Amino acid sequence: MYLASDNAAPAAEQVLQALARANAGASAPYGRDEPTRRVEAMFSELFEREVGVFLVTTGTAANALALAQITPPWGAAIGHAEAHVMHDECGAPEFFTAGAKIVGVPGRDGRMTADGLKALLARDFWTPPTHVAPASVTISQATEAGTLYRPAEIAAIAEAAKAHGLRVHMDGARFANAAAATGAAPAELTWRSGVEILSFGFTKNGAMAAEAVIVFADDLVKNLAERRKRGGHLWSKGRFIAAQVEALLENGLWLDLAARANATAGRLAKGLESRGLRLAFPIEANEVFVWLPPSVDDALRAAGAAYYAWSSESIAPERSGRDGARLARLICSFATPDEDVDAFLGVIDREPVA
Ligand SMILES: *Cc1c(COP(=O)(O)O)cnc(C)c1O
Repeated sequence: MYLASDNAAPAAEQVLQALARANAGASAPYGRDEPTRRVEAMFSELFEREVGVFLVTTGTAANALALAQITPPWGAAIGHAEAHVMHDECGAPEFFTAGAKIVGVPGRDGRMTADGLKALLARDFWTPPTHVAPASVTISQATEAGTLYRPAEIAAIAEAAKAHGLRVHMDGARFANAAAATGAAPAELTWRSGVEILSFGFTKNGAMAAEAVIVFADDLVKNLAERRKRGGHLWSKGRFIAAQVEALLENGLWLDLAARANATAGRLAKGLESRGLRLAFPIEANEVFVWLPPSVDDALRAAGAAYYAWSSESIAPERSGRDGARLARLICSFATPDEDVDAFLGVIDREPVA
């Protein structure tokens, strides 16, 4: 019953086979290999336009490199107050931007809103040169609360950002889950809605270690190759990253795996609700946040279930916890067995919810 994170999942079988195929013979180094060329073409087809493609192996690197392209050292990158770039990257965005400030904006259910962003930008403290200047906006798709932005919401945020000259980044560590859940075209979820640079995650969705920085705004390609090399993320054997991505993009495997993760999370959430447990956020992708009475939490832990205790300030009042309930984060991957979900719910059945 491992529900702590989707990055605990194995690599997909197709990815391992692709790695084995990529291992045959010699290949040009530093991204000049055939698999990398093919993946670049696949991304352009997927996004229905020419895009810049820069493969790396962690989401933190993708985010930090992307933000460094759009945020000067004296600038501010604005993200949701509970964003991964704010709290889970050990200052990498600040480090790679050479010291930019990451500024949080609150928002219900893990989402920033265009109005929230406008209100922050309208505050009177952005006075140069004493304060950093807002330079970029970063939104997570799916969010850290497992919720999604619809294209219209992205477009509204991007419009508010651009009105102030801010560039727009999307942290798509779970972009696949968002695309599978909404059914929206990748282009619709990104550049057609104003996103200029995207961190497209594959690791949580079947890769061994592969993420792509996708650049839509032509001027943001410049020097990203150098930045990636300086950041230590240009693999000399880059074909092994590309092979993973190729395997996942081929025949829409990335969407199939994400849809499976989303469906498992949906089933888990239904099971929890039908047992009288309250969910802290709407279930829109592959993450479930649930309030557990202490006795249920203890029983699940004793039964060997693995998940994170969580906290959030973006929960709607009507979804807040009661009577000392503890917030738990449960994440399903493409490989989460149905039996694990059944076993998890089975423990709750034996520990009646008051
Ligand atoms: C997992 C995750 C990342 C990437 O994390 P790494 O551990 O650096 O690969 C980035 N953003 C979000 C929202 C994530 O959940």
